[in-house]
Amino acid sequence: MVDFLLPPRCAACGERIHDHGHLCATCWPALSPIAQPFCEGCGLPFEHAGEAEDGMLCGACYANPPGFDWARAAVLYDDLGKKLVLTLKHGGEGAAVPVLARMMASAVAGRDAVDLILPVPLHPRRLLKRRFNQSLLLAEAVGRQAGLQVDRFSLVRRKATPSQGPLGRKARSANMAGAFAVTEKGKESLKGRHVLLIDDVMTTGATTSACARVLKRAGALSVGVLVFARVAQPVG
Ligand SMILES: [Zn+2]
Ligand SMILES: [Zn+2]
Repeated sequence: MVDFLLPPRCAACGERIHDHGHLCATCWPALSPIAQPFCEGCGLPFEHAGEAEDGMLCGACYANPPGFDWARAAVLYDDLGKKLVLTLKHGGEGAAVPVLARMMASAVAGRDAVDLILPVPLHPRRLLKRRFNQSLLLAEAVGRQAGLQVDRFSLVRRKATPSQGPLGRKARSANMAGAFAVTEKGKESLKGRHVLLIDDVMTTGATTSACARVLKRAGALSVGVLVFARVAQPVG
């Protein structure tokens, strides 16, 4: 409520704007939306249009297929993408959520094989420190826009995994082993469902891959991933 009493501001730079839930006229065109052609597996944009045909995978997805079936990102994790993610992480339940969620929802518009949305969970200790899970905020907003149910309880984080930064691919997946689990009740609700997993950023894909493997083991038919921003590097 309080949000709507305050003058609307750009979620990226704080500039005064006309309506809530938007970016200013300078920031909006500065974003790097991800459009076709991109890898059908991980959403990595291909550099040259001529490179790709429909349903084509990038080299990394051929060599080491990720745990999820497909992934999409709304924008590249460049300076502005990063700024918006930081606003989301540090700005509480603030104004960035509807802007980011709208871009995410349009990145998966037209995909019919989704019937349940799940956020990537935070470890309880981290949740306590941060007070909210930014992926859950995005999941709820995307769920509202797409008219899909959000399941915030089935997938849990058992291990607070340290930063993945400097680790190699093998070490990252070892680091993630056992980090996520599905609750007993969750197994019932996931059975036979086409799940859409939501996170704010995709860097190596190790987190979302680990979640997807656990969800599939628990009975999910397919797992797609939707993030706000992704780095322009192959996953894995
Ligand atoms: Zn702005
Ligand atoms: Zn790929």
